[in-house]
Amino acid sequence: MRITRLYFRVLVPVVAMAILWTMLVPTPSLNVPVLVFTGLLLLAAAVYSCLPPRWEWGLRLSFALGHLLFLLALALFSDQLGIPHAALLTARSIVLLLTPVTVLAWSMLFFDRPRIGRLLSFSLALLATLLTVRWNAELPEASSATSVLLLIICLVTHVFGWAVTGLQRRLTLGERHARLDALTGLLNRRAFEEACEGAAPPGVLAVLDIDHFKQVNDRHGHEAGDRVLRSVADVLLDTVGGCGRVYRWGGEEFAVCLPDACAASAHDLLEQVRHEVARRSFIGGQHVTLSIGLSAYGPGLPLRRAFTLADAALRSAKATGRDRIVVAAV
Ligand code: GH3
Ligand code: MG
Ligand code: MG
Repeated sequence: MRITRLYFRVLVPVVAMAILWTMLVPTPSLNVPVLVFTGLLLLAAAVYSCLPPRWEWGLRLSFALGHLLFLLALALFSDQLGIPHAALLTARSIVLLLTPVTVLAWSMLFFDRPRIGRLLSFSLALLATLLTVRWNAELPEASSATSVLLLIICLVTHVFGWAVTGLQRRLTLGERHARLDALTGLLNRRAFEEACEGAAPPGVLAVLDIDHFKQVNDRHGHEAGDRVLRSVADVLLDTVGGCGRVYRWGGEEFAVCLPDACAASAHDLLEQVRHEVARRSFIGGQHVTLSIGLSAYGPGLPLRRAFTLADAALRSAKATGRDRIVVAAV
């Protein structure tokens, strides 16, 4: 995920270096809390770089929990750590500046687990406020109004962050749905057109059409026809879904892109589809059959041109008796 990469590869190391520079350069004493916190940040950034993607969620969660535990420990034991006055003043400024940014960043970091993310960023706002209240008591020049201001700003960024990520989630979902066929759940014609626009690795394209489908509708009704369309889509996904992309091109017509397939292996796979569809009885023991046109595509033969050729081959399959595969002559 882009936001997670940005967070752990850029934001976390930059913040760690900025804190080290702000806290250690003017007063080069070994400040234990600063070293622990920046160590936590740099460790998370290093672990992220070498982590398999399936553990990424674990890292995000343990990082946020570690962050919260650190703030809690600091709020409880800061007076026992003997932090020098100047360092405490700088640390307080860092907490005031960094917390609203982190609340916003966490809203985005946990956009896929909104409830957990909301709880974590809200806890962060509360703990940071508690910490500044504790430190204000030790710093005569600090105003207690800053803690209230911090809490208010954090709540605003919290709400703003969740409004933005909610919008982002809806947009992503809308974009995904715009490329899917509502009846079968397959990719739709728009997704096929997009595939035609992009550069495709060499492969084989199949165009499939259910034979005499109008009769299914006329005899058994459109709902039964819809069930047949869904069943054919299931057969296609079960048989070729793992090695290619399946589209509902329109009506009772489907397209299958098999990248890296040769004509012979594509032919075998689509024979399996044809046999499985013909074997299944759909409504009241009725069977349907498929006519299929095949064409290779690749360098010098774009997907759109291959579609024209496969469609012509499909028409030839219809003309020569249906329920068969015809390979386009290139
Ligand atoms: P052929 O063997 O020549 O392909 O004949 P056919 O009857 O399959 O082809 P035709 O083009 O005459 O009819 C296609 C039918 O598909 C007509 C249309 O009502 C039906 N159809 C298209 N989309 C849907 C759909 O989403 N649901 C249902 N139930 N029927 C659909
Ligand atoms: Mg048709
Ligand atoms: Mg048809």
